[in-house]
Amino acid sequence: MSLIEMKTPIVEMDGDEMTRIMWKMIKDKLINPYVNLKTEYYDLGLENRNRTDDKVTVESANATKKYGVAVKCATITPNADRVKEYKLKDMWKSPNGTIRAILDGTVFRTPIIVKGIEPVVKCWKKPITIARHAYGDVYKAVDMKIPEAGKAEIVFTDKNGNETRQLIHNFECEGIIQGQHNLNSSIISFAKSCFNYALDTKQDLWFASKDTISKKYDHTFKDIFAELYENEYKEKFKNANIEYFYTLIDDAVARIMKSQGGFIWACKNYDGDVFSDMVSSAFGSLAMMTSVLVSPLGVYEYEAAHGTVQRHYYKHLKGEETSTNSVATIFAWTGALRKRGELDKIDELIKFANELENAVITTIENGKMTKDLAAITDIKSLVVLNTSDFIDAINDTLKNVRW
Ligand code: NAP
Ligand code: MG
Repeated sequence: MSLIEMKTPIVEMDGDEMTRIMWKMIKDKLINPYVNLKTEYYDLGLENRNRTDDKVTVESANATKKYGVAVKCATITPNADRVKEYKLKDMWKSPNGTIRAILDGTVFRTPIIVKGIEPVVKCWKKPITIARHAYGDVYKAVDMKIPEAGKAEIVFTDKNGNETRQLIHNFECEGIIQGQHNLNSSIISFAKSCFNYALDTKQDLWFASKDTISKKYDHTFKDIFAELYENEYKEKFKNANIEYFYTLIDDAVARIMKSQGGFIWACKNYDGDVFSDMVSSAFGSLAMMTSVLVSPLGVYEYEAAHGTVQRHYYKHLKGEETSTNSVATIFAWTGALRKRGELDKIDELIKFANELENAVITTIENGKMTKDLAAITDIKSLVVLNTSDFIDAINDTLKNVRW
């Protein structure tokens, strides 16, 4: 069979540890035999980030802006231990943080649904995608301990030096205060990414905040979403037969627990942090979660939701057998290949991405899986495979479909 040809390269961001090992296996066994893969390669492994003073991360993000689609392997975010382990020149920043700052996007996380690994919430029949705003609020807050009685105020000074003040509280005893902010430009980007992703995936969009209590702060989020919807998206949503729905965050939580799933839940930064962990564990496993960064400019970066699986890597280095789940990393590749196929109008590439995803799901549903899934499945007759054999088993399924 001839290889599927590509037009535009995908930006390939290699990474670290166990996911780097799986990255190569996936390319060698599941992609290169079928696709004449065109990538622009950036090595974001920690050693190369250190060698290039982390310039490679910035270059890879700029290349993503240029080409429109990237696929990223999990990477180490260095801490003090890693600085010693890798003899780093500096405690380099989180690559995801750097890339996100350049692409200005929203992260969408969706569970991969497989029969035999059932969500703990029985009525959830379809995936729930969490869209997390990744800027500001409590993550960029300043806080202060109030040591004694006194007056706390918020002060805004404009460029001419005029002050606007608001009382926070007249303290009569010790206490605490916190100052948060967000930017309208960032909220607009967030809203646009959510509306575009809903249109892209033909799913309803829910957004929730606490505007009844937070009458200026959360209300601004609500208003920006509502205004953009009215002016730019209402007609498009109608044509796509999907809905935009706003409600209070507590109402949203109650409704979600009774829903069938199959929609996007846009969350403010803190809500997204908390609820994405709830949704992913209720659906099964972090290794069965896709993640894509969508920028308001229509640029896409696909990755797995989990980290570099360090513990498994150390076993691998000692020559011990590992059973690491490659599903999320495979889906990062299929996401990128499908998007490239859509943008370049290559039907064969889109078809291949769908077939590879189906092969992954069929393989698991046939009882062949890694250890993490074996621990949570209802499937009775199952074979637990090691990292490499699981990828081979997927390829056996794929070959059956393609030939
Ligand atoms: P992790 O790599 O997500 O792994 C945490 C644990 O979850 C693993 O030890 C393993 O449990 C389980 N797990 C995660 N992915 C799995 C998979 N594919 N198959 C099977 N089990 C899986 O998180 P971490 O160990 O806290 O972090 C390791 C490194 O990853 C850190 O240096 C961190 O900076 C980095 N990180 C990167 C990203 C990213 O690039 N997007 C995200 C998060 C973390 P068991 O050990 O119990 O089997
Ligand atoms: Mg968290």
